[in-house]
Amino acid sequence: MSVCLRGAAQVLRPPEDGLPYLRHDRASSLSLAPGSVCVRDGLIAALEEDPDAEVAIDASGGAVLPGLVDCHTHLPFAGWRAEEYELKVAGVAYEEIALRGGGIASSARAFAEASDTEVLEQAGELALEMLAHGTTTFECKSGYGLSAEEELRALRLAAELGGRLVQRIASTALLAHAVPDGYTADGWMEEVERLVPRVEAQALDIYVESVAFSVAHLARMGELAAAHGMALRAHVEQFSTTRSVPVALEHGARSVDHLACLHPDDLGPLARSECAAVLLPGAELLGDEHVAPGRALADAGAICALASDMNPGTSPVLSLPLVAGLAVRRYGWSVREALLALTLNAAWVIGRSGDLGSIEPGKRGDLVLLDCPTEHVPYRFGRNPVALVLMEGRVVYIRPGQEWRVGGR
Ligand SMILES: [Zn+2]
Repeated sequence: MSVCLRGAAQVLRPPEDGLPYLRHDRASSLSLAPGSVCVRDGLIAALEEDPDAEVAIDASGGAVLPGLVDCHTHLPFAGWRAEEYELKVAGVAYEEIALRGGGIASSARAFAEASDTEVLEQAGELALEMLAHGTTTFECKSGYGLSAEEELRALRLAAELGGRLVQRIASTALLAHAVPDGYTADGWMEEVERLVPRVEAQALDIYVESVAFSVAHLARMGELAAAHGMALRAHVEQFSTTRSVPVALEHGARSVDHLACLHPDDLGPLARSECAAVLLPGAELLGDEHVAPGRALADAGAICALASDMNPGTSPVLSLPLVAGLAVRRYGWSVREALLALTLNAAWVIGRSGDLGSIEPGKRGDLVLLDCPTEHVPYRFGRNPVALVLMEGRVVYIRPGQEWRVGGR
């Protein structure tokens, strides 16, 4: 089976093949030259036209990107918290919202009350919307379980979801998200220690914040991740500066996520490390948070990634083109910087940059065709530019009206 995207105005290509990531001070070396991309037997085979391809896709006027990787979402979850958002923007404090039954605890209740089928249906619908916005791979997290059994259920449902979708998923156990009722943070971490050997996930994650877990708990989670061969990820410096980044780096974290309140002294060491800075501008905007120092991180050569943070509380956002638009505007990033953060570097975060995240021969043929040049993505803010999506060379999504692009030999 072979398919060829022909005559694109732009093809996003790394400056060289085989890079596990590209530091953001080198983002300008990404090329966006006109070209064609051919996929054979699921893998990218050639970067030129193949007149013998069985399926020919007219990419004229558009841009070909690697499939977008959403490296930080909280799927699967149950229900929404729209009423809470209305209270929040009207100035009601989080403590008050929590007292009225809102917050993470309300999502945990909804998750516990929903059947497996209901959770999978909601997540499956969202995944379809994500596909239509170009997301071919995304991360799932547990974290709305708030009990050992419900956390394991969340990870089991994530795996089931992965089996049902055309997209691929990576699974993260966010075992320390909020302190469950009846526990102290220390007490829950003891529970986490017993839980980790039962977990099937690529990474462990923790939420470090005054209302959640401490920097010492982060260190403990780092030890657990190392002992069990999982990557360490952490939600840090979102609402306050806890100086968790040096501790995350010491424990070899794969990523530190949020960083809206990153301490200036921690920026240089983070930028020099192989730990990715995952920025979540959707959460920053909707939560009226501080803006992460995206420009400074990029200039200092950090491995920056962007993600949706898709969750019912702080970021019910799934469109990565929208996230790119936010990053460009709020961090002062170029389009190349935003696209790098949604492709190769996002794949690095989930440990998949060896076969995903860039257009190069031998990588998987997960591709997105935009109906416009990439400069339009941030500029026509909020518009979905995705015309067509391929997974391993198979057309899995065509936006209505774009069918004319697909033809036979
Ligand atoms: Zn998150």
